[in-house]
Amino acid sequence: METTEAFVGLDCIDCGERFDAETATHRCPDCGGILDPAYDYDQIDVSRETFESEPFDSLWRYDALLPFPRESAVSMGEGATPLVECPNLADAMGVGEVYLKDEGMNPTGTFKDRGQTGALTAAAQHGAETVALNTAGNAGQSSAAYAARTGMDAHVWMAERAGYTQKAMVEVHGGELHIVEGEITDAGAAYAERMDEEDWYSTKTFVTPYRHETKKTMLYETVEQLDWEVPDAVVYPTGGGVGLVGMHKGAKELRDLGLIDGLPGMYAAQAAGCAPVVEAWEQGESIHEAWGDEEITTILNGIAVPDPGASPMILDALEESDGGAVAAADEAILDAAVEIAQTEGLEMGATCAAAAAGAFDLAEEDELGEDDTVVLLNTGAGNKDVDTLRSHLGEREFESGE
Ligand SMILES: *Cc1c(COP(=O)(O)O)cnc(C)c1O
Ligand SMILES: [Zn+2]
Repeated sequence: METTEAFVGLDCIDCGERFDAETATHRCPDCGGILDPAYDYDQIDVSRETFESEPFDSLWRYDALLPFPRESAVSMGEGATPLVECPNLADAMGVGEVYLKDEGMNPTGTFKDRGQTGALTAAAQHGAETVALNTAGNAGQSSAAYAARTGMDAHVWMAERAGYTQKAMVEVHGGELHIVEGEITDAGAAYAERMDEEDWYSTKTFVTPYRHETKKTMLYETVEQLDWEVPDAVVYPTGGGVGLVGMHKGAKELRDLGLIDGLPGMYAAQAAGCAPVVEAWEQGESIHEAWGDEEITTILNGIAVPDPGASPMILDALEESDGGAVAAADEAILDAAVEIAQTEGLEMGATCAAAAAGAFDLAEEDELGEDDTVVLLNTGAGNKDVDTLRSHLGEREFESGE
């Protein structure tokens, strides 16, 4: 395996054992816990100038802090996305500054590419020929794209309600699409049944140790783009929490390496129609309780994750960073997407706008103040959700009699 100098192995977040990344590829061989890449930080010699002197061209510019070197990466130039100031939104919220981290600019239009570049790089190094996962949609499209990039086969399980674009593009990339009746949990069961028979390489959320790892670069980029100022709040549309957990890890690393002072408050935004993380946070629990499939009343597929296995890591990150969690109704979320499209010109994904609607609520509750710098993660491009956004506009016009 071709790894970076400082990468020392994979630590189990449950039993604490460290494993060699050559042999441990997914969950903990001893207890089944999530594995987290570990580093010898004394081997990492970076400063602000190290990064400032390099082109802002892909997340692999941070490979000193990643498991794999840039030369080995299965990459299409993912990451290095714009951080766009939103003065009108800041005024409307009554906060100091708002920035949108525009992950819609990634190769397949979402930040899932940041995770899949890590997962497929690992898969290639382990000699895999076929990758597989169940997904709400975007991760499957991305995994099929990165598999194509490196000449592997991809099998993708999605629920019927997944988006047309995501389903179609899996096939366009040459992947095998499996559509399952029911919810993402049913797609997960069908995937698991097949995986019992195959030795395919999983690229599923928190099954591969590398998706949250390469997503931590969203935080590195954000603070670098803010001239190393730490934002007061980072609001993230949360399903399984991969990006949130990754960004929190990234913030702690930069702090411990002396590149930033302090941690940004991490905020999990969910749709009220499927909000297990918000519920656990509000009740002061350290783990979520699964949201019943029948109780899923949101149409925002990307964050409708009823049973997020990494909720203890998410809740820890919220606690440790002095952040929080907030749920918004679908209508408020879609309104926020439309407002941003009309006042800032930026195209937020329907799911992603949970971050904006959540930030409005946090500002209303004075959790965010008039001097605060707030970063919203636009995890995916608005044009992947045109149907949802346009039909919301149609409903509003109908209701107002226009
Ligand atoms: C997957 C996805 C999310 C949620 O990401 P998690 O890591 O599962 O929390 C949010 N927005 C979009 C557009 C997504 O595709
Ligand atoms: Zn373990």
